[in-house]
Amino acid sequence: MLSEKLKSSKDYIEIEDHLGAHNYHPLDVVIRKAKGIWVWDVDGNKYMDCLASYSAVNQGHCHPKILKALTGQARQVTLTSRAFRNDKLPLLYQKLYETSCMTQFLLMNSGAEAIETAVKAARKWGYTKKGIPDNQAEIIVAANNFHGRTTTVISFSTEAQYRDGFGPFTPGFKVVPFGDTEALKKAITPNTAAFLVEPIQAEAGIIIPPEGYLKGVEKICKDNNVLLILDEIQTGFGRTGRFFCHYYDSVVPDMIVVGKALSGGYYPVSAVLSTPEILGVFKPGDHGSTFGGNPLGCAVSVAALNVILEEKLDERSAELGAYFLEKLKAINHPKIKEVRGRGLLIGFELKEKARPLVLKLQELGILCKDTHETTIRFTPPLIITRAEIDWAVERIEKALNSI
Ligand SMILES: *Cc1c(COP(=O)(O)O)cnc(C)c1O
Repeated sequence: MLSEKLKSSKDYIEIEDHLGAHNYHPLDVVIRKAKGIWVWDVDGNKYMDCLASYSAVNQGHCHPKILKALTGQARQVTLTSRAFRNDKLPLLYQKLYETSCMTQFLLMNSGAEAIETAVKAARKWGYTKKGIPDNQAEIIVAANNFHGRTTTVISFSTEAQYRDGFGPFTPGFKVVPFGDTEALKKAITPNTAAFLVEPIQAEAGIIIPPEGYLKGVEKICKDNNVLLILDEIQTGFGRTGRFFCHYYDSVVPDMIVVGKALSGGYYPVSAVLSTPEILGVFKPGDHGSTFGGNPLGCAVSVAALNVILEEKLDERSAELGAYFLEKLKAINHPKIKEVRGRGLLIGFELKEKARPLVLKLQELGILCKDTHETTIRFTPPLIITRAEIDWAVERIEKALNSI
């Protein structure tokens, strides 16, 4: 079955479906090459990428400046482990310090690992600083959250499929409705260490909380000595039109969890951005990762952050997101239920299943993905232009009319 000469998409798909675990249901497009907002498949078809790897490639695919950092560093040293120091980690710390208003940082690889790190830090802070009795710490989360796929993280998911068959779960989590400050206030006990929340729930279908929610949450957390942990893994780094989404609300969280676009799609890099007061609870040996903070990832991340700053991708996202949203809202079609978004994080909700529209858009040269059956997320790289948005909207309208 392993053919020597793979030719068409079909050949690759056959092997992938035979040999790979089926934990995803991808579109049948086999990508070979990418540049900016465009990708090409093995059959030579060109598509606009309106998913941007779930916002990991905000900077656009294969950005030349990040490529240069990657290849340059790959020739120097790629991995030292944290048993030794390397000369790139301090530069990333400095860059994060300059861009985040936070003062201490911990580097991991995947988003889920960074969430695990924040959970561990919050618990240990709860015991050593807040005085919560041993093993009693609680962390409150929001319903319909998405924070990753590890065993502890799915322990506080409210999505049945993410949990079914994977118990027993990690205890110590409480769920409150998203967008409801009163429910949060009621759920807090003397044993509450933290509240973990996304500023906008992206996987849940681009759910934007009511005006003033985060500000209210910040006050409740401060009043009760509860840490506020913001998951900005998807909403961070310009995606919503600000460098971080919580800048809209002028809140100061205790921990910010980032990943995805932190490395512009080149390499998995995630981090917890916080303060010495909180990350100081970790003593040598408490926590770690072989690849966390490696020089290759750090060099890539510094370049990825520089691209966001130099190209003002947050401002672009605000401007072009508003333009895209306005144009999508202007499409008058009975199948559309709602179009909502902030910056270039846009949810396009239909009154019916969205998969047929996704497949039609693929035919017309646009790659996107349905989430929660009826919502399509339009989240192209932040370097997209007005003319390209016009091109996309024309096709979205055409696709709607032909399904
Ligand atoms: C993608 C994502 C994660 C998980 O990141 P991984 O790198 O896939 O582990 C966590 N939280 C949010 C909000 C995300 O979008």
